[in-house]
Amino acid sequence: MLNTREAVPEEPCQCPDCQRFYREHDRLIRENPSLRQQQELNWAALQSFRTLAGRVLEELQKQLHDGESTTAPTPAGDPSGGSTGTVPPESDALQQAMADLENINAHLFSIEALMERIFDVRVPEEVEQIFREVAGELAPDPLNADRLRLNRLLHQTPDLPDRDRS
Ligand SMILES: [Zn+2]
Repeated sequence: MLNTREAVPEEPCQCPDCQRFYREHDRLIRENPSLRQQQELNWAALQSFRTLAGRVLEELQKQLHDGESTTAPTPAGDPSGGSTGTVPPESDALQQAMADLENINAHLFSIEALMERIFDVRVPEEVEQIFREVAGELAPDPLNADRLRLNRLLHQTPDLPDRDRS
């Protein structure tokens, strides 16, 4: 049986989503080329994700709670005149979204516990220097003139009819 891992690697997918991913991937390496920077970047990304998802979850819980309490007498002076008290049709989707967000937050919490060990690591400056060198090879500046020229050469199509023959 053919070992797929030994097979000739396929060309990386060039759909717009994948291209955007490659660009973002390379940008994150280029702009955070040391272990320290990658640690800080990923910690900030994890925390911002948790903060935002957590606050949205709180907001949904509040909305759902308010929605349920509309059956109660409307407070005096409410200009809307109160709601009919029927369950809104989007309530199921809201409940599902809340369950999904709770799941996400639980996973983010686990990931944070695992990542704390990654963030404790410090390496000597010599190793950080190797990080920067490798980062420069992996994700060179796309606006670098040499690279632009090289890209144009690589993307020239050899099958195009020769202009001289036309
Ligand atoms: Zn793709």
